[in-house]
Amino acid sequence: MNYNDQIEQAAALIKESSGFYCLTGAGLSTESGIPDFRTPGTGIWEKVDPIKTASVEVLQSNPRLFYEAAFNRFASITLAEPNPGHYALARMEEMGYLKGVVTQNIDGLHVKAGSRKVWEVHGHLRSGYCQGCKKRYSFEELVQQVELKRIPPVCRNCFNVLRPDVVLFGDPMPPLFYDAEDTLRRHCDLMLVAGSSLVVYPVAYLPGLARKLIIINLQHTGYDGSAELVIREKCGKALHDIAEKLSPRKETS
Ligand code: NAD
Repeated sequence: MNYNDQIEQAAALIKESSGFYCLTGAGLSTESGIPDFRTPGTGIWEKVDPIKTASVEVLQSNPRLFYEAAFNRFASITLAEPNPGHYALARMEEMGYLKGVVTQNIDGLHVKAGSRKVWEVHGHLRSGYCQGCKKRYSFEELVQQVELKRIPPVCRNCFNVLRPDVVLFGDPMPPLFYDAEDTLRRHCDLMLVAGSSLVVYPVAYLPGLARKLIIINLQHTGYDGSAELVIREKCGKALHDIAEKLSPRKETS
């Protein structure tokens, strides 16, 4: 099937679905200038093993290393802007098709693009908190302390080390992950997976909860064989082209 036929078929599947959800990964945000983990040549994993810097173990045993090695990457992510893929998903929700987005991304770009129902299951970079007294801070406060060379940044109340609201390697999944999982289990008849290698668990179990799958990814994923449609194109273009085939859904009484 050629690309245009795939786009037509994706739009047709979306129109006939009553429980359409999207699962996104780092590949959706590479077109916003944020490197993913596993693209050959540019993926972060080829340069530094995130487990050796962005993990709870490192944050607790060597907070200075965490802030010097992992935090700068987080801080640069906050400067990124949404790309056509993020905007296309926000439009699909606005038009009455997409019920929600489950994202592994911590970049907050779905929220910035205007998506309303978003489960950021690996957290986000809008805030942080004290590991001791749990007092909440804006992410900006962490950045400011690091810029002033207060590394690691500490709580104004109890002087314990602050951390961002992201799920690090070694953290348990947050309750909202289980909320997303429950919603998908009960309502998802069609899932579009955009820009994920689908190797990070437990998120990689989620496509198994959908009755039908559409995958948009530049590389092979373990779910390709069970998908209705696999589109080998950049997320920005493919999602934009699919959204162009949709018009606002009419209310049925
Ligand atoms: P991944 O790096 O494992 O996989 C990304 C996939 O997207 C790859 O298969 C790649 O071929 C594909 N891809 C890259 N650019 C693409 C594009 N423009 N269009 C279509 N496909 C494209 O990412 P993952 O599956 O999300 O797992 C990595 C983990 O890393 C996640 O847990 C996530 O939290 C974290 N992470 C997040 C960000 C972010 O917030 N933007 C960035 C890097 C890593």
